[in-house]
Amino acid sequence: MQSQTNKPFYYFLHKFYGKQKQACPICEQDWKLQVPLHKLYSYKCDTCLLLSDEGSR
Ligand SMILES: [Zn+2]
Repeated sequence: MQSQTNKPFYYFLHKFYGKQKQACPICEQDWKLQVPLHKLYSYKCDTCLLLSDEGSR
């Protein structure tokens, strides 16, 4: 069923690997956001449609 919006669907990875790297786990490109999205997501890859929050502090 198609959505009415054109918003891309992002897979959300919650604390992926427990510790974030500054590279997408799939394409291994830099995915660190300069400004955290919604003050929650610090990592986003537009290529792989992945989102993740900050890892362990
Ligand atoms: Zn990626």
